[in-house]
Amino acid sequence: MVTAILPTYNRAPLAFVKGEGSWLMDDQGRRFLDMGGGIAVNALGHAHPKLVSVLTEQAGALWHTSNLYKIPHQERLAELLVEHTFADTVFFTNSGTESIECSLKMARKFHFENGAPERTEIITFEGSFHGRSLGGISAAGAEKMVRGFGPMVPGFVHVPFGDHDALKAAITEKTAAILIEPIQGEGGIRAVPPQCMKGLRALCDENGILLILDEIQCGMGRTGVLFDHENSGITPDIMAVAKGIGGGFPLGACLATERAASGMMSGTHGSTYGGNPLGCAVGCAVIEEVTSDGFLAHVRTVSGHLRQSLEGLVATHPRVFEQVRGEGLMLGLKCVAANLDVVNAGYDALVLTVPAADNVIRLLPPLNISREEVDEAIKRLDLAARAVEGGT
Ligand SMILES: *Cc1c(COP(=O)(O)O)cnc(C)c1O
Repeated sequence: MVTAILPTYNRAPLAFVKGEGSWLMDDQGRRFLDMGGGIAVNALGHAHPKLVSVLTEQAGALWHTSNLYKIPHQERLAELLVEHTFADTVFFTNSGTESIECSLKMARKFHFENGAPERTEIITFEGSFHGRSLGGISAAGAEKMVRGFGPMVPGFVHVPFGDHDALKAAITEKTAAILIEPIQGEGGIRAVPPQCMKGLRALCDENGILLILDEIQCGMGRTGVLFDHENSGITPDIMAVAKGIGGGFPLGACLATERAASGMMSGTHGSTYGGNPLGCAVGCAVIEEVTSDGFLAHVRTVSGHLRQSLEGLVATHPRVFEQVRGEGLMLGLKCVAANLDVVNAGYDALVLTVPAADNVIRLLPPLNISREEVDEAIKRLDLAARAVEGGT
């Protein structure tokens, strides 16, 4: 008999009832160190006092009106994002998938309105992840996600990750945009080197193509800058964000330059809940915190310490781990042992990590994690690694 919850997830037998900073308490009273951060969502940790107070205050004032009316918190959040990024304008959503959908529609509409309606194709990369809508799975194209759900949305061209020649060959007069994660998350923490990001930008400019970045996982301070593309010194035309920007409240956004957004006039797109007062009040508090003095500097320092400690762990457990990858607090441990065995041993050692493709475990802790908590995480990961060694 089917479970009351549609069984699309293979869940660990853990149920958490309370969170506090980098810690999660389960229903057995155990305290776990959360190095998964709800898959890069809990940017400020659990139950951050400022977010709790902003959310409860807003809950007492107003939950929902509609995008039929002005929403002051939405305007403020848009202004903050515009102030701190390349973007001139923002569309708010409730999830990453919806931000991707807006990005894809915007790119096609741009060319439609600019005398090139034949430009409808979007180039994407193998191993990518862009959400689970038909547009999102068509964009990513992986067999595992699309099988049985056809026909796919047409117009996506998939090229191998890191294959510059294949990418150039895929560009035609029908290309509308290139969509890429600066660091693949689900794909196993695979970063696009800064040189290649620069190359992508140049390729787009030379060919009249829009560059869409999916910073849903790698953005919002995770790699020591507000958005990861700052690390390569380029800017996109369109960017999808979500996860960290709501700090745990469902919130996403599609950011764009005025030029890229020029086709999205009144009536072309919409959302009932997108940009609601609750989400935007929390979103304002998150971005204020992440852009406050010293916050990103902390991410850079503490992530350097985590990375170094993980290198040590790889050196002591060569039968379990083989490599550290990623940037900032978006790190991956490429495993020699089965990654799921390592994640499960972590549960026994009371530390949470997240599996990814390519036999990787991901570390995506709260951005305000302390140095002491990092040391504690390493101790627990060391225990987990020993348990895996003992069992093999
Ligand atoms: C999580 C994620 C998405 C999808 O976001 P949802 O909020 O689950 O819809 C898309 N792209 C990337 C890179 C992600 O990490």
